[in-house]
Amino acid sequence: MSDDEITLPWIDEPMDSEEAIEALGQASIDDGDHLEELETRIERLERRASALEDGSSVECPECDDGGNVYKAGVGAAKLANDGGLTDGSADALNRESHVCLACHESFTPTFE
Ligand SMILES: [Zn+2]
Repeated sequence: MSDDEITLPWIDEPMDSEEAIEALGQASIDDGDHLEELETRIERLERRASALEDGSSVECPECDDGGNVYKAGVGAAKLANDGGLTDGSADALNRESHVCLACHESFTPTFE
């Protein structure tokens, strides 16, 4: 290996310094994009996690009602109390995280 050759840890072949600098620059640009995307995903997951803990912060996508949205388990209990829990609605509640008792629509907030 001559003095001008550099080995980057993730590249097997030694390359000359100019190539190595270019490769390093490319890597940090990629990382920047990647980080930004990760941060966006983390923010989305945090919003989603807080909605899963607290159904009262979620609005129904069907009727925009925010006052009758419950987490699926709570909604199922309320429906069962009222005698309105059918096999079909139980299946739907099992798939979704939230239910709106104003329009009986179950859904999972997406936060896109
Ligand atoms: Zn609704």
